Amino acid sequence: KSGLNKTRKNLLGGIEKVFSGFSSVDDEFFEELEEVLLEADVGVKTTMDLIEELRDYCEEENVKESAELQKFFEDRLIEQFGEGSTKLNSSDVKPTVIFVCGVNGVGKTTFIGKLTNKLQKEGNKVMLVAADTFRAAAIEQLKVWGDRNNVDVISHQMGSDPGAVIYDGLQAAKARKVDYVICDTAGRLHSKTNLMEELKKVNRVIKREIPDGPHESLLVLDATTGQNAINQAKAFGEATELSGIVLNKIDGTAKGGVVIAINKELKVPIKYVGLGEKIDDLQEFDGKQFIKALFD
Ligand code: GDP
Repeated sequence: KSGLNKTRKNLLGGIEKVFSGFSSVDDEFFEELEEVLLEADVGVKTTMDLIEELRDYCEEENVKESAELQKFFEDRLIEQFGEGSTKLNSSDVKPTVIFVCGVNGVGKTTFIGKLTNKLQKEGNKVMLVAADTFRAAAIEQLKVWGDRNNVDVISHQMGSDPGAVIYDGLQAAKARKVDYVICDTAGRLHSKTNLMEELKKVNRVIKREIPDGPHESLLVLDATTGQNAINQAKAFGEATELSGIVLNKIDGTAKGGVVIAINKELKVPIKYVGLGEKIDDLQEFDGKQFIKALFD
């Protein structure tokens, strides 16, 4: 949990300093707050929107003290994140299909390894499908995580049709009665059209085999890339319907503000955060808890 705490602390340090450094809210206060939010990677758009909202509130309610505004800000963010953590969807009929996408290097494979471990610990039978057939390394890496967790990995050769791998994977998952089948998909983003086509195709294959699937479409992002992560999310969001975000490498950044930006701009819940490279460095994300800790 240290990663998330560090992120909170760094973000908190800044925000808290502004609120405690100014007893009354004036232009200078808002300028400072704006600077802190931008530095924490909340992003220009989200920062401007938030500042405007806070200014409007002060004007409408005739708020002059920063302590009063802080309360509003906290409630406002909690309202945005909603109560509690957002659980992983699961299907009543086996298998639950989890589709995972994201660009190379964001920690997609590592996440799949961690999630497999978690689901297994909860008593589920899990299977992996290596549908990122573009890189041999991606297939190999997934197999390493498969071995580590002692679960089956369905794969074809590098360069083969991702749709065909998914088809085989789902057949095997049904035959072996697994609870969860996790599909790793293409990680390249150099051509948006290609990406869209591939994601659509893979989704069509899943729907043909499992009509109400995929039950989860998770996009994996790297928190250290800040606004790039938001742009990736937008591109993937246009290509496929996302049900959740996994925000990795939050241990490696002091700029946790990207959490606020993603939540506000994408309207897709953050379901997990990655806090390191080890198998149990995965945590369900609880927005309310995260925000509360920012101000406590
Ligand atoms: P992929 O290309 O998206 O599948 O990325 P990988 O899963 O291979 O991960 C890329 C690198 O990021 C590896 O060195 C991982 O150990 C590392 N990594 C993955 N998740 C995390 C995380 O939550 N925190 C940190 N610090 N490193 C991570």
